Amino acid sequence: MKGGEIIPLEELNLPFLSEEHRLLRSAIREFAEKEIIPTALERDKNSDIQGTVKIFKKLAKLGYAGIRIPEEYGGQGMDMYSEIILMEELGYADPSVAVTMLIHTGAAAACIYQLAPEELKQRYLPTIAKGEKILAFAMTEDEIPGSWSSYMKTTAKLEGDKYILNGRKAFITNAGIADLFVVFARLDQEKPDHKGIGIFLVEKEFPGVSFESEEPALGIKAASWGTVSFNNCEVPKENLIMEPPKAFAAAMNLFNQERMENPSVCNGIATRALDESVGFLSQRKDPRSGKSFIEGYQSLQFKIAEMYALIRASRLGVWHAAYLLENGHPYVKEVSAAKFFANEAVRKVCSDAVQLHGGYGYSAALIVEKLLRDGMFGGIAGGTLEALKLRTIREILREKGISRK
Ligand SMILES: Cc1cc2nc3c(=O)[nH]c(=O)nc-3n(C[C@H](O)[C@H](O)[C@H](O)COP(=O)(O)OP(=O)(O)OC[C@H]3O[C@@H](n4cnc5c(N)ncnc54)[C@H](O)[C@@H]3O)c2cc1C
Repeated sequence: MKGGEIIPLEELNLPFLSEEHRLLRSAIREFAEKEIIPTALERDKNSDIQGTVKIFKKLAKLGYAGIRIPEEYGGQGMDMYSEIILMEELGYADPSVAVTMLIHTGAAAACIYQLAPEELKQRYLPTIAKGEKILAFAMTEDEIPGSWSSYMKTTAKLEGDKYILNGRKAFITNAGIADLFVVFARLDQEKPDHKGIGIFLVEKEFPGVSFESEEPALGIKAASWGTVSFNNCEVPKENLIMEPPKAFAAAMNLFNQERMENPSVCNGIATRALDESVGFLSQRKDPRSGKSFIEGYQSLQFKIAEMYALIRASRLGVWHAAYLLENGHPYVKEVSAAKFFANEAVRKVCSDAVQLHGGYGYSAALIVEKLLRDGMFGGIAGGTLEALKLRTIREILREKGISRK
């Protein structure tokens, strides 16, 4: 039940957004209304990953798969503001489509266009920008806590003109649909920490790559998420994106900027939950007075006002971090805080939306139940709530010159 937008995603009137950004938003919105929103519930119920891939390919035809890839490699060369617009709109329309695109356009692509040697960029980026090849980002392992990824067990050894990779990567978005994997593996066995890690670009067809299975999940069920293993996987020497000891630190640095996308998806989800709630409460009537719930019940009006305030603050937090990034200011503290704030906000807003819908909120017939499940992803993926709080406090203490020990 859609109630129209009570909080239009464009309403913030951010002074740094151009007419081009506004046109981009309406183009994505128009596409989403026709091609994504009508099938979102059904794809979720059927875990229809291939249905989501079809939508990804259509979005790619419109240029969105290469939104920030530089134009010289066939991308659109757009800025972080454009990426945020894409993520907010896709999050609003369907988080499964959003995360499929997020991994492709975000950290995985950035590792290639920002860290890889020129030859690798020229060879792979044009097909990635067109969405002909889908990307996955393979860092987390099931045996090592993701919060301690730098102690990963996956190894890479140079033998002749090939690297031989061995290991398993778990909880990987796009694992079952990816053509290319950006893989983190320990190349320098002498160094057990981040200084031993290299980054590789691995084609699905390389000998020794196998997708194990889709992981049954709480939400985002129409997106691929699972385990991929590398068993004596042969990777040509030229497919090294970056070598140790600098690779892991360089990637971590990059991920700070790529942290804008996940909370933007969450803000899109939360906005949808609010719109749905206003729509529902406008139609639900008190049989005595004939007034709608939203007209008649002040406690529900307060709830809507609180949801609105939370979403507004959350969106402004991400947009401010993006403004700092785009204008060359420090932004790590701000993006870390904006991410965990948005990750918690979406959980609160979606939980309230379910409550406001009563039995219809608990029922899988309407979208808010799915939004609550989908909205959980943000606080675990791309840096957990706890990791981002630690990062925020570390930056605050560093600025104040206070030691954490
Ligand atoms: C939807 C989704 C998509 C994902 N996609 C990808 C992907 O594409 N590629 C990829 O590589 N990974 C992906 N991941 C994995 C994700 O990055 C990890 O799940 C995450 O880093 C947490 O690691 P973990 O699951 O091993 O939890 P653990 O590290 O075992 O942590 C368990 C809990 O303890 C907390 N914790 C850990 N250390 C501390 C501490 N020092 N202080 C306080 N609390 C702490 C954590 O925050 C967490 O709440 C995805 C995960 C999800 C849910």
